[in-house]
Amino acid sequence: MNSQLIDTSIYADISRFIRDESLRILLEGEVIAVVGYAAGRRKGSVQPIIACDTESAGRLMFSQASVNNLAVYLTKAKKEIPKSGKIGIVLKGCDLKALVGLIGESQLKREDLYLIGVPCSGVLASTVHPATELATETIAPKCLECDAHLPTGCDFVPDVALPPQQKSDLKYAVEIARLEALTPAERWAYWKEQFSKCIKCYACRQVCPFCFCEQCLCDRNKPQMVETTPRPAGNTAWHIVRAMHLAGRCAGCAECERVCPMDIPLNLLNRKMAKELKELFDYEPGFEVNDKGPLASFTDKDDQSFIK
Ligand code: SF4
Ligand code: SF4
Ligand code: SF4
Repeated sequence: MNSQLIDTSIYADISRFIRDESLRILLEGEVIAVVGYAAGRRKGSVQPIIACDTESAGRLMFSQASVNNLAVYLTKAKKEIPKSGKIGIVLKGCDLKALVGLIGESQLKREDLYLIGVPCSGVLASTVHPATELATETIAPKCLECDAHLPTGCDFVPDVALPPQQKSDLKYAVEIARLEALTPAERWAYWKEQFSKCIKCYACRQVCPFCFCEQCLCDRNKPQMVETTPRPAGNTAWHIVRAMHLAGRCAGCAECERVCPMDIPLNLLNRKMAKELKELFDYEPGFEVNDKGPLASFTDKDDQSFIK
């Protein structure tokens, strides 16, 4: 399929709205800081910033290079927020789903946050230069399967008209169908090969808003639960632990896949788990806060066919 440009003309207006609203809430004392994006040093690049004053709020912006899920900063600072005062945060729809999940898991309180939602046509894939135009060839694969372009339930959403969204080859759906058509032994061989590339850098864990345990099970050494060196058995154990701990929680932001230096298709596994959760429990992450995810609750209607 030929690459088609994706309309990002609203991003300049969105940037202006984000700056104006951030300045307002900072000046009126509604928040003590706004977590958002500002231009980076490399041409076209964007970096997360925490704007605490009018000077830094004036640098806030949004573009197709605004890839980071900023919710992870709130997870890491969750103990400080109730003491420090209300925090503003800029969120794309996929990031908002993660934040909503964290509120549902009692990690953050809605009343401690001021949510600035971004109408979003998509962001760039991790493999392209940040100054690249957004097109069906350069967009992050998650954006082609997105159902969260327009966040709801936020305190502020820029008043812009979202252009019609384009769909191209749906990478994850196509790849999941290909893997499902394989035999279990072939599927196992595929994932074994992928996991064998893992160098246990744990970048995927550090960037994930839901990996908030103060001590990860995989770092414990008395007793050691998962081998820490990057060898086949420990790698497989780590990836099974990661997938199972995120099942029914993962918001699909694909940050884990973006930061993986070994190009392991982590979001493919996340998407497959999400598909299973949808089929088994009719559950998918959204913009509504749920107190309990599907694997943290039980009803007698749940599928029990796995009990032999
Ligand atoms: S998945 Fe949706 S909300 Fe997230 S960056 Fe892509 S288009 Fe935007
Ligand atoms: S597992 Fe990956 S896709 Fe899911 S919430 Fe964490 S970083 Fe995002
Ligand atoms: S980021 Fe990639 S290489 Fe690093 S631990 Fe995660 S899967 Fe392994």
